[in-house]
Amino acid sequence: MDRAAPFTIIRGETKRQGEGLPPGATIGILGGGQLGRMLAIAAAQLGYKCHIYAPEADSVAAEVSAQFTCADWHDAEAMAAFVRASDVITWEFENVPVAPLAAIPAGKLACDPSALEIAQDRLAEKRFIEELGGRPAPFAEIDSREDLDAAMARIGVPGILKTRREGYDGKGQIRISSEHEAEGLHLSAGGFVYEGLVRFEAEFSVIMARGRNGEVRFWDSPENVHEHGILARSFLPPAERIAGEVAAARRLAGDVAEALDYVGVLALEFFATSDGPVFNEMAPRVHNSGHWTIEGALTSQFENHIRAICGLPLGDTALTSEKVEMRNLIGNDALTAHELLSDPRNHLHLYGKDVRDGRKMGHVTRLG
Ligand code: AMP
Repeated sequence: MDRAAPFTIIRGETKRQGEGLPPGATIGILGGGQLGRMLAIAAAQLGYKCHIYAPEADSVAAEVSAQFTCADWHDAEAMAAFVRASDVITWEFENVPVAPLAAIPAGKLACDPSALEIAQDRLAEKRFIEELGGRPAPFAEIDSREDLDAAMARIGVPGILKTRREGYDGKGQIRISSEHEAEGLHLSAGGFVYEGLVRFEAEFSVIMARGRNGEVRFWDSPENVHEHGILARSFLPPAERIAGEVAAARRLAGDVAEALDYVGVLALEFFATSDGPVFNEMAPRVHNSGHWTIEGALTSQFENHIRAICGLPLGDTALTSEKVEMRNLIGNDALTAHELLSDPRNHLHLYGKDVRDGRKMGHVTRLG
């Protein structure tokens, strides 16, 4: 089909014809980690430049981007200059403080920060999911010893005590196997949730992209295996049990995206149980369990996120191979990563970080 080019170049300037952001425009990315790095690589392919804003000087996203502002999230002057220099702004890190984002004019921020606000607080997130008809693990708000005792009595043990905010990759979580074990716990201020331990058969995620016009595409749902609270592997096809739960999980993810008027890639993690999918958590951003889409799908989550926030049509999310497996390279795994290339089915991605125990250093995707 012959389609009119969406843009024309007039006297060296790109002029917008359709709704999309013209090539050469600058995408501001809040956060400087590997997700930003992979977003910037996808953006470059589509002719965009990226500008990273992050408080840490050693940003692996900045290494592959045109501009870098290294400043505190609350540095109003630096944020204002970043906003002026960006045509559209997105985030790659879900703990970006929401208050400074109020300085970004409506329309420049790709998506309303309410998605961040909800995802930053496990309690708000679970309540939001329940309102939409989803089913999280049984949970209780915990601010004191008495709350925890009451929660253990109501929900039962074993369970998991999690910080409401800032926990990720299994950090900020304690498993409680008996009431006796809880006795020595010191609950510092800041708020927790107690969750009943879900007896799941497998874990999976729903990864979707929603365009500015409300267009939605889902990738096939991978089965995810966590070790020590960190994602170890994602693979397709998932277990039979998961395949039967994907439709209900997608419905919830679609409702979440609709309720937030979300734009970009959104991921929801689930436990597959004999009673159907139990919601674990959501990420209003590209997600580790979607890294396999770079080679394993016709359009990657990174490219579709960039397309969505720039107002371009979304790409096909179909699988490129019947079997796909993504494995995270953690800590020292990165030191011998090049050995993986002896298998021609492997596709290696290293994030350029200094090796540290437990740190996500890269991933390898194997097709077939
Ligand atoms: P989270 O950071 O909350 O996603 O937790 C990381 C991993 O810990 C999950 O992917 C599960 O493998 C496990 N986990 C967390 N919460 C629960 C729960 N309520 N029941 C069983 N396993 C859990």
